[in-house]
Amino acid sequence: MRTVKVNLDRKCSSSYDIYIGKDIMDRMTLLIAKNHKAGRYVVITDHVVSQLYGKKFITALKDIGLHVSLIEFPAGESSKNINTVMDITGKLIETGADRETCLIALGGGVVGDMAGFVASVFMRSVPYIQVPTTLVAQVDSSIGGKTGVDLAYGKNLIGTFYQPGAVFANVSFLETLPEKEFNNGLAEMIKYGIIDDEKMFRTLEDNMDTIKSRDSKMLLNLIESCCRIKKSVVEIDEKEQGLRRILNFGHTLGHALEALSQYTITHGEGVSIGMVGAARIAERMGYLKSSETARIENLICHAGLPVKIPKSLDTEKIIAHLKMDKKRKGDVIHFVMLKKIGMPFINGNIEQKLIAAVIEEMKK
Ligand code: NAD
Repeated sequence: MRTVKVNLDRKCSSSYDIYIGKDIMDRMTLLIAKNHKAGRYVVITDHVVSQLYGKKFITALKDIGLHVSLIEFPAGESSKNINTVMDITGKLIETGADRETCLIALGGGVVGDMAGFVASVFMRSVPYIQVPTTLVAQVDSSIGGKTGVDLAYGKNLIGTFYQPGAVFANVSFLETLPEKEFNNGLAEMIKYGIIDDEKMFRTLEDNMDTIKSRDSKMLLNLIESCCRIKKSVVEIDEKEQGLRRILNFGHTLGHALEALSQYTITHGEGVSIGMVGAARIAERMGYLKSSETARIENLICHAGLPVKIPKSLDTEKIIAHLKMDKKRKGDVIHFVMLKKIGMPFINGNIEQKLIAAVIEEMKK
């Protein structure tokens, strides 16, 4: 099993380890019992993950003598709201949870974001552990302590920064992940290559078929590389005041497309199209070579992800949505741009006309 340490300078106690391995259920439960002692553990999960792994996980924890219960809610982004938070909180009280309780988020980003949020506010905060079961969660959402829920006005509009006590990424969970969900994770992997690691980008280019066959050795190496990139960014900028924004490469346009398509475009698909958009804008502004844009588009296509904007989405509406992005400063739309693969920068000075032209071009 590999370990990546996230060192946060606020206080030693907010630093934590990310454990990555295959078939690590037993070692994971032992490490939880040894390093995260609590009077009671409550596993929070969704109904799909509960069916697949909930019982096995609870049994493994009970077998080593821990006091455990499970709370589940319906799977999917539509559950990521304040009503589910209230529901989970009510069930926590009914099961007798108190300040000595540790929550365990078993699931994808929806479970992780919501369980993390509940942990940050329940009884003025209790510890929690992330056990990510999707590729998105293993390379991205379980690390860095961003928690939250969606409002009718947009995604993640209520939330906290609250770090987990540990993260356990078991690649064996990925065997049951539907292809569309796996591809969503590939989009984030490609993003890490683009923003930080040209060598990893090349590995993705050279091995995409093996990766898509879910070769566990390849996945372990890549998940570890992604975790190392994310943790180094989070260590420098935990609260997203500056550097952490580079993790949003492709997300500004991606979020707009997701929302305007009523979420028929998934997050990974939106980010994929958004990364192509950002690269094309960077190319038109003279920052990025056309050969680099082509490499990005080719890799995204090879991963089975989209690179075009559906014609049905109105360009004006996309631009209006970009202006609502919660990462904007004032009226300025901030885009993460590229000088080359592995070298991003933030640019808040992009003409709307240029963005509109690239959007139109991407509909062809
Ligand atoms: P998700 O949690 O909705 O999971 C996708 C689907 O896969 C669900 O139906 C789930 O039940 C199912 N599933 C999970 N694990 C499975 C497994 N091993 N086998 C079979 N099915 C499985 O989606 P996601 O892509 O993991 O996460 C998306 C969420 O993460 C969004 O809400 C997004 O805002 C959030 N996010 C947060 C951060 C952060 O830094 N906190 C970063 C990226 C994304």
